[in-house]
Amino acid sequence: MTILTPYLPVITLIGELTILIFLSILILGFILLILTVYAIRSGNILFPRFMRAGLLFLEGMMRGLFRLFGFEDSDFLRIIVTLQNTLNRKAFMVIPVSERAVFFPQCLRSNACPAHLHDEGLKCRECGLCRVGEGKRLLELLGYRVFIVPGSSFIKRMIKRYRPRGIIGVGCLLEVKEGIEMSGQYNIIAMGVVNSTDGCVETSADWDQVFKTAILGISPEKIPKELKKYIE
Ligand code: SF4
Repeated sequence: MTILTPYLPVITLIGELTILIFLSILILGFILLILTVYAIRSGNILFPRFMRAGLLFLEGMMRGLFRLFGFEDSDFLRIIVTLQNTLNRKAFMVIPVSERAVFFPQCLRSNACPAHLHDEGLKCRECGLCRVGEGKRLLELLGYRVFIVPGSSFIKRMIKRYRPRGIIGVGCLLEVKEGIEMSGQYNIIAMGVVNSTDGCVETSADWDQVFKTAILGISPEKIPKELKKYIE
């Protein structure tokens, strides 16, 4: 009889519980993987709340499972952003446009951009060298505050200054995912629009998606004629 004998039932119970928890997590991971693959292939998201909570809770493991089954990290990030947008859509639609803001990354600008840095970000001159000028003009016509972000702390500063209830964050996948998470901490309803080309300079926004998102919840008569084609 060893010194551990009296504790044997407890040790066995702990061991069994550990195996049970491990197996439950593994099964949950596979269910999430199936739902995610279905969402990627069909564009149809089932149980978005469950999926978002599960994917974020098991993020490390899910990324590993994704890689194991031949998916890229970007697929994982994209599905998180899509889930978040799906869940936020209704709440975003009821926020008056005067309480919404759009944040663009400065990498969208032309290399020859003549804009100068101001206290409220880069001041676009609508020079026509990139599409930001025209996009900004149309969004402001809708009633949005539009910012061109010079650095990561800038968004927090503008959020504190203007307290928007809803924001559209444009950028690369990682920026958008992190931006949406940060908005959650400030109780802001965020919609993310991922750039159609990535990089550090002269990137391209998915303008169709920017405008489709921007007009959500806005009555058709208030939408400028250039954006009417985005009404669904
Ligand atoms: S349109 Fe605006 S952001 Fe684009 S290059 Fe001209 S000043 Fe810069």
